[in-house]
Amino acid sequence: MGNIFLIYNDQQFSEPLAQYLTEQGYHVFQIQSLETLEESLETQFPDVIILDALLQKMNGFELCQTLKEHPQYKRIPIIMTSAIYLSEKERAHGIRFGEATYPILADRWLMKPIAPAEIAKHIAYLLGKETEPPYVPTIFIVDDERDIRELLRTTLERRNYRPLEFSTGQTCLDALASGIPPDVILLDYKLPDISGMIVLNRIREQFPDIGVVLMTAYGDEDLAIHAIEEDVDAYIRKPFLIEPMLMLITQTLERSNIKQERTRLIAQLRESNHEVMKHYAMLEHANRRLRELDQLKSEFLANVGHELRTPLNSIIGFTELLLQGYSGPLNNNQCRQLSMVLNSGNHLLRVLNDVIEVAMLNAGQVVLTHDIVPISAVVQEVLQELRKKIEQKQLRTQQRFDDELPDGYSSREKIKLILYNLIDNAIKFSSSGTITIAACTALRCPPGDIRRAHPPEHVTTKGDYLVLSVQDEGIGIREENFDILFDEFRQVDGSLTREYNGTGLGLAISKKLIDLYGGKIWLESRIGVGSTFYFTIPIKDESESK
Ligand code: ADP
Repeated sequence: MGNIFLIYNDQQFSEPLAQYLTEQGYHVFQIQSLETLEESLETQFPDVIILDALLQKMNGFELCQTLKEHPQYKRIPIIMTSAIYLSEKERAHGIRFGEATYPILADRWLMKPIAPAEIAKHIAYLLGKETEPPYVPTIFIVDDERDIRELLRTTLERRNYRPLEFSTGQTCLDALASGIPPDVILLDYKLPDISGMIVLNRIREQFPDIGVVLMTAYGDEDLAIHAIEEDVDAYIRKPFLIEPMLMLITQTLERSNIKQERTRLIAQLRESNHEVMKHYAMLEHANRRLRELDQLKSEFLANVGHELRTPLNSIIGFTELLLQGYSGPLNNNQCRQLSMVLNSGNHLLRVLNDVIEVAMLNAGQVVLTHDIVPISAVVQEVLQELRKKIEQKQLRTQQRFDDELPDGYSSREKIKLILYNLIDNAIKFSSSGTITIAACTALRCPPGDIRRAHPPEHVTTKGDYLVLSVQDEGIGIREENFDILFDEFRQVDGSLTREYNGTGLGLAISKKLIDLYGGKIWLESRIGVGSTFYFTIPIKDESESK
């Protein structure tokens, strides 16, 4: 466990200590002279040295100093024991012994009598074995009466406190200014140099958490009340009995510990708050950078898209001219192959248009026009464009519009694009059945499909919108996928072998456009039964009414 050198002449003390420490598992070396010390040091290295201040042929203080200045041994912890008290001056400036003065260099100064178990605790701490090192609270005794100081110091030392004595207010303040703050100050009200209240104020300015017990003379009760108002923790009237005084010290210590813990926690909180703010600022910065990069990416995509669209348009245009026979008659094979070129070109154009649209929306480059949108006419146009696909899949379509359906008010081109995306999906994800396109004003929705869709609250209560819906009897969508459908490039079935082609951009574009004019989009769907997508269109120009 460790080598302990016990350097003692007082065998009455060292024998039981050696026995106790041996029982605890330490290797104890009892040393009584310099010669044995030197011999032992040649073969053993001590982990802790316990040294009595009073030795017969050696000077304990000098030995301690020699060891603490020795390059090889200076790090060995030394516990010094003594039967004499050290005055505040001696502790600070060293003890006079014979002709010389020796500084107090030991790591621990323990008063005898002291139980072996107590010493063992200090050894364990010095060896770093104790997780909770025994904390010795420091207590300042500030009183000009020597007897009271003596009484308090002796008692406190026996109770394992570290008392320091001061006979004037100024010496106490000097010690506070230069050293570690004590845990409790026992402060006499009547000091020879400065009043206790002034000392108290100075203490509070610097150390608001130190516990202060004010000692007052008989008849000073008013002062005591004043002192309590000035944030003194307790007061005791002189002459006092030692037991109540010790109780007050214990209570004050607990209070000051709580105060210190609170201050520490507040400081810790401030520090972690500071850390959080720092990280937040870093995140903000990174986010801004990401947004810039995202903007650049969108602008790049939009530019590249435009660059690609121009030659693609001429490929499509010239293919159409060839197919129409402008450059001479074509045989069947040529016609079939050119039709395939045209189909692929048109498909590529749609993909390109989607990429450009989403890139421009993300880059904030889409500005909506304000047009009157005749719903029925726009729906006819979209159905006409998708007629071939509908016929190929042998799907039926039906329209259910309110009798006096007002026109919508938004960008005609964009409403058409949204409807195109929704109807195109309805066709793509249905193998049979009917596609129903419905439109009504929100307040006058007929009891039917739209009511069952649980549209967002404000949509049902406000009459300023049209609700359009596209319903199919296709494969349906699981509810857990409702939200992700509107993410860019997101397809519910993302596998390479999936049955339905597409870019995963149609719904993202539709939602972004709807958000742009302040509308809503939502859906209702059941697997194997079908899906209904709803979206709103303003009836009047909101910007004009403001
Ligand atoms: P794309 O159709 O190009 O894949 P969209 O953004 O239009 O992209 O749609 C995203 C996904 O939402 C589709 O891949 C599909 O899984 C699902 N989806 C959209 N509309 C329907 C629908 N009417 N029925 C079933 N699933 C649909």
